[in-house]
Amino acid sequence: MPDTVSFLVDPLPVGATPEFLEASFREIEPGSGALAVNDLAPHRGDGVFETLAIVDGHVQEVEPHLARLANSAQLCELPEPNLDQWRLVITRAAERVPGQGEFALKLALSRGIDPGTTPTGWVHVTPGADFRAAREEGIRVVTLDRGVARGAGERAPWLLLGAKTLSYAANMAAIREAKRRGADDAVFTSSDGYVLEGPTSSVIARFGDDWVTPPPAAGILHGTTQRSIFAHLHAQGRTVEYRDLTVDDLRRADAAWLVSSVRMAAPIVELDGAPMPVDHAATAQLNAYLLGPRD
Ligand code: PLP
Repeated sequence: MPDTVSFLVDPLPVGATPEFLEASFREIEPGSGALAVNDLAPHRGDGVFETLAIVDGHVQEVEPHLARLANSAQLCELPEPNLDQWRLVITRAAERVPGQGEFALKLALSRGIDPGTTPTGWVHVTPGADFRAAREEGIRVVTLDRGVARGAGERAPWLLLGAKTLSYAANMAAIREAKRRGADDAVFTSSDGYVLEGPTSSVIARFGDDWVTPPPAAGILHGTTQRSIFAHLHAQGRTVEYRDLTVDDLRRADAAWLVSSVRMAAPIVELDGAPMPVDHAATAQLNAYLLGPRD
């Protein structure tokens, strides 16, 4: 069984006849020249994507990811994705990789061939990167100014801060800058000093019994992992809260994590060079929950 599979998807409109779904995508050789050179995804990063974890054959949180895909598409004024089609492609792709181990399933929906009247799409599954050390030993992070004030998402919706777009070059540059500064990852801050998110993750901090994350209105992507963790903690009777956090607040947290779909929960052991307390028991519990089957 291959551990890397790719599918080319012909995105269908909402309401397409169900019998068209199965024929609307096909498996292709990973790395084959399937993307047209005049597609707006490579030229403009003009499209949206999702990354889902597959753990021991189970695709995690399909519906929250598809809901966010639809929301990202709406924010970008892309045609509404046919979620039945994407559900089916996800199922078919997950069936093609081994039923044991962790995999990352990326799906992308591009505005399509220039001038962008016909969307294009693809799904690519690869073995999950090895996040064991990040989960167990933790990560060092540095804060990096995103250059926009808190709430930019609402004041300037054209920045698409709440959408998961294919324009991730700045996020990748932030991770490179973090590494140049001797850290593993970054936490973006607003120009007025609020904690936002990591370049590919959400921030969760624990203050005593309160679990806190910055509100999506701060101008960030609403993380599916953060939502899943909050639902889990809430069901256990813990206090969870969306609240603005300054960098000083984060420094005073009893523990903090970067969380995302494939990495799960990585405890922050160092913030801007200063040690952070690590809650090993909560980290182990969070990752045990996150690695179990979730819908
Ligand atoms: N924020 C950003 C900018 C991200 O790119 C991601 C995931 O890649 C997240 C937050 C976390 O989202 P999720 O938990 O859905 O993976």
